[in-house]
Amino acid sequence: MTGGCLFQSAADVKGVGLLYSRDSFVSRSFSDCASTGKAALNLNGTIVHSVFRITPQNAIMIEQIVIFFRLLIGGLTVVIVTGCAPLGCKDVVMVSRARWGARTPKEINFMQTPVPHLFLHHTAMSECSDFASCSQMMRTIQNLHMDDNGWDDIGYNFLIGGDGRVYVGRGWNRVGAHTYGFNRNAIAFSLMGDFTNKVPSDLMLNTTKEMIKCAEDGNHVMPDYKLHGHRDAGCTECPGSAFYALIKTWPHFEGGPLPGYTCRGR
Ligand SMILES: [Zn+2]
Repeated sequence: MTGGCLFQSAADVKGVGLLYSRDSFVSRSFSDCASTGKAALNLNGTIVHSVFRITPQNAIMIEQIVIFFRLLIGGLTVVIVTGCAPLGCKDVVMVSRARWGARTPKEINFMQTPVPHLFLHHTAMSECSDFASCSQMMRTIQNLHMDDNGWDDIGYNFLIGGDGRVYVGRGWNRVGAHTYGFNRNAIAFSLMGDFTNKVPSDLMLNTTKEMIKCAEDGNHVMPDYKLHGHRDAGCTECPGSAFYALIKTWPHFEGGPLPGYTCRGR
């Protein structure tokens, strides 16, 4: 499966009853719905729970309830969904938090979108090459951010692996912990690896460009948004000199120091 939302578009699911089998459910996730939408839990023809609003905050809870009732009755579960804003973009392979094994955030705060800034970072850590190693790296980074840095969750909105997949961090509309002074009005993508002395692979660069297109097409960034490297907003080497030299040539780029430039860290 190509990741992304349970449903391809809100239009596909309005008024439609969805049948889940034991097999299909485990690979599909409400937490892949970025926002909006409603679901009613209907077990073997009986509505047992009233309408939920699907948000990233309660998506995990809904899934747990569905799994609980499935185990209890062992039958098919029908979930009627009236809308869902897909998290995914059609040209990227997106790995949901559930699939990479994310911990539950300590706290979730939403921001106003579209945002005026898009930041690119590197993780300055090891590269990863496949689903298993990139998922492991996601868990390592999340632990570092939550336990060592004391943040609510992994800092970035999305991370791009050496395998060309996009790993969901905070998603499109959550306040992040990535760029000091800009966490409430910017979306941040971080490329997994250290790109000080070499540029990311073509696979990673293509995925990054597709994600930028997703941000534009999905109205997550303003039409006249600015693209920056982390170093434009603070005294850091991030996103690596080699990668930074490259993104300087990309559309919407605006170099620093930006207003609010600081050496206070993230
Ligand atoms: Zn950075």
